[in-house]
Amino acid sequence: MEEKTLIFGHKNPDTDSICSSLVHEILDRKNGWKTKAVRLGNVNKETQFVLDYLGIEAPELIDHVEEGQTVLLVDHNEFAQSVDGIEKAKILGVTDHHRIANFETSEPLYYTAKPYGCTCTILFEEFNRLGHKIEKTEAILMLSAIISDTLLLKSPTTTEHDKKALEELAKIADIDVNTYGLDMLKAGTDLSDFTSEQLINIDSKEFANGDFKFQVAQVNTACIEDVLQNKEAIENAMTDFMNENGSRLFVFLITDIINSNSQAIVLGDVSVFEKAFSKTVENNMAFLEGVVSRKKQVAPVILNVI
Ligand code: MG
Ligand code: MG
Ligand code: MG
Repeated sequence: MEEKTLIFGHKNPDTDSICSSLVHEILDRKNGWKTKAVRLGNVNKETQFVLDYLGIEAPELIDHVEEGQTVLLVDHNEFAQSVDGIEKAKILGVTDHHRIANFETSEPLYYTAKPYGCTCTILFEEFNRLGHKIEKTEAILMLSAIISDTLLLKSPTTTEHDKKALEELAKIADIDVNTYGLDMLKAGTDLSDFTSEQLINIDSKEFANGDFKFQVAQVNTACIEDVLQNKEAIENAMTDFMNENGSRLFVFLITDIINSNSQAIVLGDVSVFEKAFSKTVENNMAFLEGVVSRKKQVAPVILNVI
C-alpha cells in the first residue's frame, strides 16, 4: 500500500460514502495534505450516475489495509462496516453522521460527528469554516450525496443544515435539484440485472448488540411489487447470508422513494422485529408506513429491544 493516507466510506458504499471520500480528498488538497479517496465495494448505479454526470472515475477499490496504514473514515465508524484490517490501521480522523459504536483507537484523532442527514453536509460546512471556495465538481458531488441520503430532503433524517447546504450547492452547481435528483434516484432503482444475492448486498449494513448480530439491507424502488416478484429468491439469499455470517435477524427494506414507505422482508428472529415495530410478520413480510431511514427508523428501534 502506498504511503498516502486513505479516505473511505463504509462497505457496500452508497453515494455519500463515495462522494464524501472524493470531496474530503479535494478539501485535503486545498489544505495542503496529500490523501487519496478509495472505496470498499462496487459503485452502485445511483452513484455511477453522478460519476458519469461529472465524467470522473470511481475511486480505486481496496479490500483491506495493512497494519499501520493511515486512514480517514467518512460516513461510518463502526468497525463491522469498515475495511478489513481496520483494527490495526492508524485512524487519523473520522467525519460521520451515524451513531458511534464499536469504535476504538489507540491514539488521539480528529473526530467530526454531526447528527445531520449526510456526511457531505458536514464537509460543506467545513469548506465554509475553512474559507475555501467550492467549485462546481465538489458542489455536484456534495449535493448528490445529500439528495441520496435524505431522499430529496424527504427522509426524517433531514436537518435544516442539509436543506441550507443543498440550496447553496444547487446555486454553485447551477442545477435544478428536483429534476437532477429524481433522475439520479431513479438510476439507482434499476434493479433489473442483479441476482438476488447481489440485490441484498447493494446497501447492506451489519449491526450488533452483544452477541446478537443482525443485518439491515435496503434497496430503493419506484415499484415495490416489481422487487417482490423475486421474493422467494431474495429470501433464499437472505437465509444463505445469515448462515454464512451468523446473523440472527435479516431485515430487507424495499423502499418506495415516491411514496416514502418500505416493505420489509424479515427472516430469522422475527419476534425481535415484531416487538420493535409492534407489527405481525406475515408471509415473512411487514409493511412499514412512512419508514425510509434505516439509520433513524429501523436500526435503533431493533437495537432497543435486543
Ligand atoms: Mg452511507
Ligand atoms: Mg451518509
Ligand atoms: Mg443510505
